[in-house]
Amino acid sequence: MRLRKLEIALQRLAGFSSPRAELEQYQTPASLAARLLFDAYMKGDIEGKSVCDLGSGTGLLAIGATLLGAKIVTGVEIDQKAVAVANKNATLLNVDINFIVADVNDTTLKERLGTFDTVIMNPPFGAQNAHADRPFIDLALQIGKVTYGIFNVGSRQFIETYILGRANISQVIGGKLPIKRTFAFHTKDVQEIEVEILRLIQTKNAIQAAHKKS
Ligand code: SAH
Repeated sequence: MRLRKLEIALQRLAGFSSPRAELEQYQTPASLAARLLFDAYMKGDIEGKSVCDLGSGTGLLAIGATLLGAKIVTGVEIDQKAVAVANKNATLLNVDINFIVADVNDTTLKERLGTFDTVIMNPPFGAQNAHADRPFIDLALQIGKVTYGIFNVGSRQFIETYILGRANISQVIGGKLPIKRTFAFHTKDVQEIEVEILRLIQTKNAIQAAHKKS
């Protein structure tokens, strides 16, 4: 499936029925989601791989990964209502995904999930609850060999330091995240936030890859 076709398919998906500000429930625009997924696909991180979407919301990233040929896709989402929408969206596009209602802060989750080739996520940026992104990064680095995440441009330096010794940033792609007026505290109809898609590679995998090359 080509990039444009993927974007068109993702545009058909339903959004949050009643978005919750405290969970930073913003559906990723189809164009940005397709970009992340297609880039991961081109890097060999999607087709035939096991993929986990953390904070899967209405299922956009998880569904897109399935459309690009991922072997097994699991979504983890704290909000039951969002999972209900995600399941409907999966049915609409005729894909099979295991959506789990769970909190990424749950310490038993790592055991339950096991490991994945690839983690994809658009986590909360921590705008409502400071550091809400950290448990996402922590869990992703424990369960996934490679992680693709969407982050606020300003947070790259923090992330670099935060993941030190655990993972490296192996790629950065710039993008824009148009946020439509969703919550009462939004003052503009659409506000564009500069974001970066970061590809994080677990340190032990980075070392293995280097060994293979030499
Ligand atoms: N992945 C979706 C949604 C991104 S918005 C998309 O790309 O469109 C971030 C999502 O993380 C929301 O659905 C929110 O409910 C979820 N979330 C926030 N805190 C969470 C937590 N502690 N555990 C699991 N999911 C959480």
